Amino acid sequence: MKSRSVLSSILLALLLVGLILSLQERRSNPVSPLIVSSERMLMGTIWRVQIVVSHGEQQKAEKAVEHLFQELNRIEALMSEFRPDSPVSRLNQAAGTGPQAVPPELADLIRRGLDYGALTRGAFDITWLALRGIWRFDDRFRPPSPEEVEQALSFVDYRRVELEGTRISLPPGYAVGLGGIAKGYAIDRAAAVLREHGFSHFLVEGGGDIFASGRKGSRAWLVGVRDPRGGPSDLVARLSIEDVAVVTSGDYERYRIVNGVRYHHIIDPRTGWPADGCRSVTILAKTAEQADALATGVFVLGPQEGLQLVERLAGVEAFIIDREGQFLFSNGFLRYVVGKPTETVLPPTID
Ligand code: ADP
Ligand code: MG
Repeated sequence: MKSRSVLSSILLALLLVGLILSLQERRSNPVSPLIVSSERMLMGTIWRVQIVVSHGEQQKAEKAVEHLFQELNRIEALMSEFRPDSPVSRLNQAAGTGPQAVPPELADLIRRGLDYGALTRGAFDITWLALRGIWRFDDRFRPPSPEEVEQALSFVDYRRVELEGTRISLPPGYAVGLGGIAKGYAIDRAAAVLREHGFSHFLVEGGGDIFASGRKGSRAWLVGVRDPRGGPSDLVARLSIEDVAVVTSGDYERYRIVNGVRYHHIIDPRTGWPADGCRSVTILAKTAEQADALATGVFVLGPQEGLQLVERLAGVEAFIIDREGQFLFSNGFLRYVVGKPTETVLPPTID
């Protein structure tokens, strides 16, 4: 009796070991899915697309990618403040001359941009563009004087943009810039194009900002969060994501260092100077547009107020690296981090 139960225990153990081994083999050898990928320069940055396809779907995917890039071109022509003939530039040129009719899609994005202004109590402000002249990060960059900042700041206040239907009026000297939100919107539109073509498992990336739809074959999509003081391939975390957008705003993307001070492209509209509470803010959200606007807005709000805002919003998570290099997370963020956080990946205070 006893020996029989020992024997069956051994058999059971062997079975379990076999099962674990086969699972491990599966994990290290997942069937790699068939992927159609493409890369292109647009909106001044690199765009990458990966689509999971079935056999025989390659041509269909290539056609979808073609449409996707056409869509991105269309959005750039509509919303780029760098093109003098774009509808947004024409609106800015007409500031102070009364209501201007703009294409409905542009009016809608401006309206949502103003809503993010209200949500972040002015930390995200599409009228920041009046400051563009003093914050141009080219080779001739020099820090502006406090007087210059003060002067330009009198043309920044999202509450002074008047919007009625598709007619918008800007006070004299005002200008709207959609650089903090348009890329997110473009990523969402790109994802919509792929869905219209019948694909549901794909990853769209524009300059590091991402929407991941479905899965990459047998597993979720993996994306990295950059070390703001490292090189492009130095990561502080790897995230496993499915049907979610991941957008990072960082002080390392466009900047100049003068006399040891880092000046960068995320401007605090309340002071007119680059926001200095964070090195980077990564936001996870259901749309790339929301993630994009919030990454910029939370960066300006700083870690404390920024996290408070994120905790109030459903379906939004944040990972902030503050000005000292400390890591802060919203309540649900760590569930996306791959592997057990270690000292090298996440700080020792997290376990
Ligand atoms: P990117 O991913 O292109 O680096 P971010 O999403 O980090 O852009 O936002 C920075 C961009 O947003 C700036 O280049 C500028 O166009 C715009 N911007 C800067 N400060 C603000 C602000 N306080 N509110 C809204 N937009 C801003
Ligand atoms: Mg942004």
